[in-house]
Amino acid sequence: TSGMSKGLPIRQNIPGVKKVLLVASGKGGVGKSTVAVNLALSLQKLNLKTGLLDADIFGPSIPKLMNLRGEPRLSNNDGKLLPLVNYGIETMSMGYLISQESSAIVWRGLMVMKALQQLLFDVKWNDLDVLVIDMPPGTGDTQLTISQQVKVNGAIIVSTPQDIALIDAIKGITMFKKVNIPIMGMVENMSYFKCPNCNHESHIFGGSGIKKNEATKEKIELLGEIPLDEEICLNSDSGKPIVLINPNNEISKKYLDIADQV
Ligand code: ADP
Repeated sequence: TSGMSKGLPIRQNIPGVKKVLLVASGKGGVGKSTVAVNLALSLQKLNLKTGLLDADIFGPSIPKLMNLRGEPRLSNNDGKLLPLVNYGIETMSMGYLISQESSAIVWRGLMVMKALQQLLFDVKWNDLDVLVIDMPPGTGDTQLTISQQVKVNGAIIVSTPQDIALIDAIKGITMFKKVNIPIMGMVENMSYFKCPNCNHESHIFGGSGIKKNEATKEKIELLGEIPLDEEICLNSDSGKPIVLINPNNEISKKYLDIADQV
């Protein structure tokens, strides 16, 4: 009721979900979706029943990263969307609801909001411990709507060490702070490059930008640094997440450590 008295929208639980984590980034291409997928799989390794919601309506990438396609069936008793499942993870994405050809249609504002409401509240999640939401990049209407309407346990911000990605990440952090969503920390992706021959680590983007600047200045925890890795790049777009194909390597251990902290 205190929310109502302030004129704020009331935040709702997502049916069938205990805990909601947002994975966000200030701009596209920093590896947000890749982090969301590997985090979801690592949470599952910690024996949590995990789901993955792709909230990027204009550029859904979860179907590809999770090697899933096809139209979701509707539940017989309440007509809700049934998640598509792979690797033991329940998923939902706009990518299942529109075909490749029709993705070029011009979305009107109302249609986007309606689609978002369906993705948020009309999916029949099956008693999940945690739902990871892969947010669209940036700080637009969709991000604000989710932050205001959904009871969220925390947000994880993904950034690369480059200045420009960090500057954008700060905008995201500011938005979450404004709407009182706890920021669990940042993941620095493409943090460094480890030479497969000599194991030398090159900080090709100029050193850990997050560690030096923003994570400390904004008092935000650095949850982990994921290197630029050939294997991630080669396999992730064909639907084979690194923590599955190489569960014992250093990167998979880093992801498990991140999952442990959130
Ligand atoms: P975003 O969701 O931020 O737009 P994606 O997760 O789609 O970014 O990643 C963008 C591209 O970068 C993809 O081709 C992905 O495979 C690749 N990528 C992501 N993280 C890494 C990494 N640590 N090393 C190498 N390639 C990566």
